[in-house]
Amino acid sequence: MQICKNIYMVCGEPFSSMDNVYAIKTSEGLILVDTGTDAREYEVIMENLAYWGLGTVTHVILTHAHINHCFNAKRFQDGGAKIICSRAVDEAISSASDRLIDYHNRELEYNVKTFPKCSADIIVENDGDFEIAGLHFDMNIINGHSKGGLLFFCMLEGRQIMFAGDFIHISPFNRHAIIGWEGDLEYDDAVYLEELKRFSTYEPDMILSGHHQLCMRDAWQIPKNAYVRACSSKHRSLNPNVPY
Ligand SMILES: [Zn+2]
Repeated sequence: MQICKNIYMVCGEPFSSMDNVYAIKTSEGLILVDTGTDAREYEVIMENLAYWGLGTVTHVILTHAHINHCFNAKRFQDGGAKIICSRAVDEAISSASDRLIDYHNRELEYNVKTFPKCSADIIVENDGDFEIAGLHFDMNIINGHSKGGLLFFCMLEGRQIMFAGDFIHISPFNRHAIIGWEGDLEYDDAVYLEELKRFSTYEPDMILSGHHQLCMRDAWQIPKNAYVRACSSKHRSLNPNVPY
């Protein structure tokens, strides 16, 4: 599904799937953001890449280590793609550590015992400008939702796009932001809250998250809303008591 010029959604809710995967076409290659959770999602991604004639994936950026985002990384690496992630995510995917686990999911056919291990080709060590396949990204390492997550931004056609992973999700009708899952073994609400504060001043034009719907318009309000909601919530959960 084409989202805008040069960005496609190749896995996610429109494809009867929970995990969003995006493909970014550049003059020098094809970048995939996340890889889905199992063989079926790999199939969905490949079907969509073929349908849109996007060619071979040259780079994969992993937003974080949860298994529903990085399970198929090795498949794409075997197909010639370079895997890009933080140091903490590289540790997780190369050793199939508990950092991969996504306990809230229902079927664990994609558990760590069967996780196809691989090592990153390129590691993002620090925040800052990062060029991938000719496109500039503002990379930010975040640690609240999951250790070594990447929150990144790029400019396309004069619009700033935020690739949010599970840092922020969008509720139906763009009514409000939803904070990511709070069950990771290394989940840190204090760090997460600081990160929400830091990015609350960002005003992207679009937000493409790891789950749920896209935000193609009025996305500027979402990072602020996420922070305000988190500030008003209690205990370990940064999500106020509202249904998904
Ligand atoms: Zn996650």
